[in-house]
Amino acid sequence: MEKREDKLKEVISHAKEYGYVFPSSEIYDGLAATYDYGQLGAELKKNIKDYWWTAMVQMHEEIVGIDAAIFMHPKTWKASGHVDAFNDPLIDNKDSKKRYRADVLVEEFIEKYRDKIKKEVEKGRKRFGADFDEVQFLATNPNVKRSQEKIDDLEDRLSKILGADDLEGLKAMIEELNIVCPISGTSNWTDVRQFNLMFATELGSVAGDASTIYLRPETAQGIFVNFLNVQKSGRMKIPFGIAQIGKAFRNEIVARQFIFRMREFEQMEMQYFVRPGEELTWYEYWKDKRIKWHKALGLGEEYYRYHDHIKLAHYANAAADIEFDFPMGYKELEGIHSRTDFDLRKHEEFSGKKMQFFDPELNKNYIPYVIETSVGLDRMFLAVLSASLKNETLEDGSERAVLSLPPALAPYKVAVMPLTRKDGLPEKAREIMNELKFEFNCQYDEKDSPGKRYRRQDAIGTPYCVMVDHQTLEDNTVTIRDRDTMLQDRVKVDELHSIIEGKVSLKNLLKLG
Ligand code: ATP
Repeated sequence: MEKREDKLKEVISHAKEYGYVFPSSEIYDGLAATYDYGQLGAELKKNIKDYWWTAMVQMHEEIVGIDAAIFMHPKTWKASGHVDAFNDPLIDNKDSKKRYRADVLVEEFIEKYRDKIKKEVEKGRKRFGADFDEVQFLATNPNVKRSQEKIDDLEDRLSKILGADDLEGLKAMIEELNIVCPISGTSNWTDVRQFNLMFATELGSVAGDASTIYLRPETAQGIFVNFLNVQKSGRMKIPFGIAQIGKAFRNEIVARQFIFRMREFEQMEMQYFVRPGEELTWYEYWKDKRIKWHKALGLGEEYYRYHDHIKLAHYANAAADIEFDFPMGYKELEGIHSRTDFDLRKHEEFSGKKMQFFDPELNKNYIPYVIETSVGLDRMFLAVLSASLKNETLEDGSERAVLSLPPALAPYKVAVMPLTRKDGLPEKAREIMNELKFEFNCQYDEKDSPGKRYRRQDAIGTPYCVMVDHQTLEDNTVTIRDRDTMLQDRVKVDELHSIIEGKVSLKNLLKLG
């Protein structure tokens, strides 16, 4: 099996080679943890956004979408608690001078025990073959049980330490577990300090505290401050949701791992306003709904798992992550949070404006409770890209790199090719493409041998290739080649639209979600 670090490297270089993702301002040697999306990356990103927006807004009568500004009144961030509490605990290794998130060091240590369990399960499966019962094995195998006890104990202790903001306790735990810096290999650590993650800048030309504003660290607050505007102008009734896609900025301490953790990134968030007391039912509803949305992509169920938060954020009464098996292991892809009435209540307090809803059925006013679903667009991009990139050895022994993207997300849906560059074939191919391009993003490709052209389309993830040959001129048929099976069919030009539509339509995914 391929090593995980190699897989990430492979994804990064494939993304660059084919125009998906470039290091930002590369001619100046790049800027740490900042990336640009290239010509194909921009298409994939747009398709992911469309999938999310259609599933969340178009498919739900009670959810509407907005597009709020990145800059917000500075009081917003006082009210939300970000000025005082949006901190990460950081620690430096004195020998390597590298900086880490102290809580993540412990979490990664715990993850090693999870890997041990995974290995035991693999061994068990090999040993018992078809008779293997995973549930029973997990409950009875002594090595697994020992690892699980260790995980439970460490998670419990970490949760208490983080809950109490006990920075000394966190350092003591790192020392006790003998966690070393992966670069220097030493445990020569500084004390743990808190670090605020918001980027601050000045508004206008006046310097000083009064004009300090922040780049938003989450899109959610743009939704909360507009709660009343949307509710009133849209005549919304509880329960209802407000969705938004937009940029967010965090001065992350450790921003590595490609587009997984960046300082500028994009979020797709939805806040669902419900009656107080009903929030945990809606929380379960959205947990289930969101994982179905992910799984509908068909990347494989085994890529996803839930992870309940061990430290609840200052605003939450329940929270879980949907984790994805990235090349670096299982990591957070989406957060689902029951945020109580924390945000609206705080905005009411700080603005002096009522943030309440009059519920005609209950005949009373209240501040709604909120369930939030928040997924990183860039992390979705990395999830889709890394799970889709495959190297296959074909029957004739040759190799192909194929990006088996969910067809609805692929940048190009179809490549149209003339077999040769003469005999009127290019003209016919263009004529076919000119019809298809009203509905599908198409690429025209006439350079190199057909085999090479197919490989190129495989590598960028195009689901279909249409080849125009001499027979096309006689009977108006073409061959259509499927990226995944590599099989070719001869079909009528008139059928192309419905064949392609059947495979690439978002509808296929939305029906499953
Ligand atoms: P993490 O623990 O990985 O820092 P978080 O819990 O702080 O993430 P949330 O505040 O819940 O993240 O943000 C919601 C979503 O936004 C995350 O699930 C993730 O997909 C995305 N996200 C957060 N920070 C970043 C980042 N620095 N780069 C890219 N995406 C991010």
